[in-house]
Amino acid sequence: MRKQIAAANWKMNLTYQQAQALIGDILAQDISLESDQQVLLAVPFPYLSMANEAVAGAGNFAIAAQNCYSKHAGAFTGETSVDMLYSLRVFYCLVGHSERREIFKETNKELAEKIDLLLVQEMRPVFCCGESLDIRDAHMQNDFVETQLNESLFHLSPAQVLKVIVAYEPVWAIGTGKTASTEQAQEMHAHIRSLLAKKYGSDTAEQISILYGGSVKAGNAKELFAEPDVDGGLVGGASLSAQDFVQIIKGLKS
Ligand code: PEP
Repeated sequence: MRKQIAAANWKMNLTYQQAQALIGDILAQDISLESDQQVLLAVPFPYLSMANEAVAGAGNFAIAAQNCYSKHAGAFTGETSVDMLYSLRVFYCLVGHSERREIFKETNKELAEKIDLLLVQEMRPVFCCGESLDIRDAHMQNDFVETQLNESLFHLSPAQVLKVIVAYEPVWAIGTGKTASTEQAQEMHAHIRSLLAKKYGSDTAEQISILYGGSVKAGNAKELFAEPDVDGGLVGGASLSAQDFVQIIKGLKS
């Protein structure tokens, strides 16, 4: 089975001490993950090393960055390069979260550049895609997500695309408390998998994890993750509570 993944996105939350305590509380629950299950914690940049050390002995836990810059190195004050992340032994990175797209105006082309840099280092991008409410209301969500994949991912070779984790995150469901229904999630995940299959063949498409993100909670995770094409979730708000996030991890398919 392809990997089933619970990924936490802490965004710009928590002090260093709170972050340490949260990781400690999650690990204290002694969750035993199956070999095809994984937990990712996308923590703020200043906490990457601490978090990496904290999860070092915990099987199938890994740390992710929430972003990286689209250029290799140079005069880009305040930015963080892929090589910097790699040198900290951080091997996963979110790319194209809707907050990056909306607030920081990141384009599909720029996201393609980030993905290319990550893949040169053999790091794994968690590529976020998803439509806003007006696009869904206009029934254009399938075309919209197809364009996002076309412009940021579909230049990759089959071997490269296998390194990518896709996260479908309808923007109208992020941080709003409004979750996509299980039917809406499954429908879009199946659509994404069919696009991957059309481009790369079904064997490749079947191996790619597609996570759902958008108000995943302890109470709805298991039901969402049970859908055949939903391979876990990318979780914002609920990942800031150890109790809730552990419950979400326990909702992964096994
Ligand atoms: C996210 O930030 O990726 C997210 C899905 O947030 P939330 O779970 O709070 O909706």
